[in-house]
Amino acid sequence: MVDCVVVGAGVIGLAAGRALALGGLEVIVIEAAGAIGTETSSRNSEVIHAGIYYPPGSLKARLCVAGRELLYRYCAEKGINHARTGKLIVATRDTEVPVLDRYLAQARRNGVTDLARFGPADVARLEPAVHCVQALHSPSTGIIDSRAFMLALQGDLEAHRGTVVLNTRVSRVVRRKELFEIEVAGTPTIRCARLVNAAGLHAQDLARNIDGLPQATIPPLHLARGQYYSLTGKSPFGRLVYPVAGPADLGVHVTLDLAGAARFGPDLQWIPSIDYGFDADRLATFTAAIRRYHPGLDESLLQPGHTGIRPKLAGPGEAAADFVIQGEAEHGVPGLVNLYGIESPGLTASLAMAEQVRVLLDRR
Ligand SMILES: Cc1cc2nc3c(=O)[nH]c(=O)nc-3n(C[C@H](O)[C@H](O)[C@H](O)COP(=O)(O)OP(=O)(O)OC[C@H]3O[C@@H](n4cnc5c(N)ncnc54)[C@H](O)[C@@H]3O)c2cc1C
Repeated sequence: MVDCVVVGAGVIGLAAGRALALGGLEVIVIEAAGAIGTETSSRNSEVIHAGIYYPPGSLKARLCVAGRELLYRYCAEKGINHARTGKLIVATRDTEVPVLDRYLAQARRNGVTDLARFGPADVARLEPAVHCVQALHSPSTGIIDSRAFMLALQGDLEAHRGTVVLNTRVSRVVRRKELFEIEVAGTPTIRCARLVNAAGLHAQDLARNIDGLPQATIPPLHLARGQYYSLTGKSPFGRLVYPVAGPADLGVHVTLDLAGAARFGPDLQWIPSIDYGFDADRLATFTAAIRRYHPGLDESLLQPGHTGIRPKLAGPGEAAADFVIQGEAEHGVPGLVNLYGIESPGLTASLAMAEQVRVLLDRR
């Protein structure tokens, strides 16, 4: 018997487990894979987002803005490699300028007050390889070594009586009076008073196997794969460059890794099941998207990179959905928190989200 089991050792499960352990609970984080963070948490852009894009008042907006500051502080405290690179969001034609105006207004309402408007001459001075008619500069956007971040979370967890158990897939959760009995491959293994479902792309699957959880509370899952190309050689960019966002993603953008190498992506492709394969046929759409803001792109320098899958709660053509964090008030099961649809900016929001999970379970 332990105080709390967290299912999933991605960045969200590790951050939640750490917060609960720091709060004095004995926590076990159970992970199906042989290592921490092998799914979405290691298949992203590693960007610390400022909090510009999300509707004011949404969980995405609030947890991104709060999480970003917590994350910068945590990185400084733990010596985690990161950089406040800054980012440009570029309008490449006049019709896109009103979108920048909307971002500016929305960012202010989200508490992001440091955006500056740049004209094409300012941008040419900073980023000669970038074409635009106008831009917004976000100085509080940055990049992080997400692996080092997750290792630090695991270290904190383990320093506070917490444990990460690998190679263990939770198959079912049975209610025994006030407790949860965790089954692995159909065999009961451990009981706990609190349970956090941080299974990422598998959160809905796991939820369907939690006894007594009303099925109507489980949101639909839509999978949207994004792939990246890395750019061989010296990066022509000194900071991140984003076009204006599409309806379901942020557009094919430029990010830098901490060694200064540039990569483009992710794009967005709806897929029926989890499949990390790279689709080379999408190169032409990719290069067309990049050339709008980087006309000098030399296509021969693009190398296929990694892919990641967004666990979306809204499908093609539907309005973007917020993160869903359900506690007892939403699903009626005491001691259980389910986390659904933790796509971007989940990495940035992770420490703030973990605090929200801790508060939900504190009431127990
Ligand atoms: C293409 C892409 C780019 C992104 N870019 C950014 C970015 O730049 N900045 C940002 O802030 N966010 C970004 N994100 C979002 C961010 O990566 C995610 O929000 C975050 O990684 C989600 O973490 P997680 O722990 O919920 O999921 P995961 O990392 O997927 O972890 C879930 C874990 O649960 C385990 N698991 C599942 N089922 C079970 C089970 N039954 N038993 C045991 N273990 C189980 C899995 O093996 C997995 O390790 C991006 C996402 C994508 C897809």
